[in-house]
Amino acid sequence: MNPPGSVHPRVPSRHPATIAVHAGRPATEPDAPLNPPVVFASTYVGSIPAGQGERGYGRYGNPTWSALEEAVGALEGGTALAYASGMAAAHAALELVPVGGRLVLPRHCYSGVAGAAAGRADRDGLRIAAVDVADTDQVLSAADGADLVWLEAPTNPMIEVADLPTICSALRGRVTTLVDSTFATPLRQRPLALGADIVLHSGTKFFSGHSDALLGLLIANDPEIFRKIEVTRRSQGSTPGTMEAYLVLRGLRTLPLRLAAAEANAGVLAERLASHPVVQRVRYPGLTTDPGHRRAKAIMAGFGSLLSIELADAATADAFIAALDLWVFATSLGGVESMLERRRRWAEELPTVPEGLVRMSVGVEHLDDLWADLTQALDQASSVRSA
Ligand SMILES: *Cc1c(COP(=O)(O)O)cnc(C)c1O
Repeated sequence: MNPPGSVHPRVPSRHPATIAVHAGRPATEPDAPLNPPVVFASTYVGSIPAGQGERGYGRYGNPTWSALEEAVGALEGGTALAYASGMAAAHAALELVPVGGRLVLPRHCYSGVAGAAAGRADRDGLRIAAVDVADTDQVLSAADGADLVWLEAPTNPMIEVADLPTICSALRGRVTTLVDSTFATPLRQRPLALGADIVLHSGTKFFSGHSDALLGLLIANDPEIFRKIEVTRRSQGSTPGTMEAYLVLRGLRTLPLRLAAAEANAGVLAERLASHPVVQRVRYPGLTTDPGHRRAKAIMAGFGSLLSIELADAATADAFIAALDLWVFATSLGGVESMLERRRRWAEELPTVPEGLVRMSVGVEHLDDLWADLTQALDQASSVRSA
């Protein structure tokens, strides 16, 4: 296979849309399959006197994972490791914080990560500084003496935008920084190029794109960091399934197309929702009135396809969701299907997230159908409210 970072040795820098289509394929030889084979293997044949080859055992590596890792590594500009899920990747990264160590965490971040960090605080005495990621000064002062600064950009589900270039370059070489870039994908921002040490992706979301596989990835450049997270994956056995790795790589091929279509829909829907009388607030960095707009415009190559709306209260939000016909009520995001949920229905969601906040993952359906469904459901929700 080709080395990560280049699709072809003689053409060092191709566009991400091209890399997404071509990276991680077998060498082009006559009769070679175009796609990497799905290799089911719990172990590999050893040799004497070396003992074993590079892979050795099924928990240490797999050619199908390697193909996906090569493609994601090329897109992010680093070396990638695939895990069983985004949360498996998150736990591996949290292992970088020693017992009694200090972790800076966004006060609004994916609730699973907040829960995992709280678990480490209980068990291992981790000291957590919860920060507003949009407040750069606050992040930088909390970072003093920290072992790991965990960033999420944009955040789930509050869609806040961190100043990644300023934070990551200020901390470079002093404190390890991680960016959960799940919402942005490497097509919209590349945190390693902005100075981050580690990128995390829930491959379950945009990479898969079809709501049919769980997988996570960490991407890093520093060999020492990479060695540590690799050892954790071996030890914890938090490895992806071979079929899942294949499905996520298959999904990655169309990520540029899916994201562009979903993002175009999201931009129009955000505008329309912002002027709808039942909607109190729309959080989407593509809106010029959004607090993260200028920053996102400077950092990101597009505003993505996730937005959150705020309705009056939980009852109004639930009535709205119940009245929908096309939009899927489910927890997850980044699929071709438009999907939404009221985040506070989860006991784990942070109490600072408004009760009436509905996170919306805009899909690739026809815009008119998406809008028609939203307006009829908003009308019904408002009549429930005034009744
Ligand atoms: C879903 C998600 C995760 C967790 O990923 P899983 O694949 O569900 O384990 C982590 N971070 C963000 C931002 C997510 O949306």
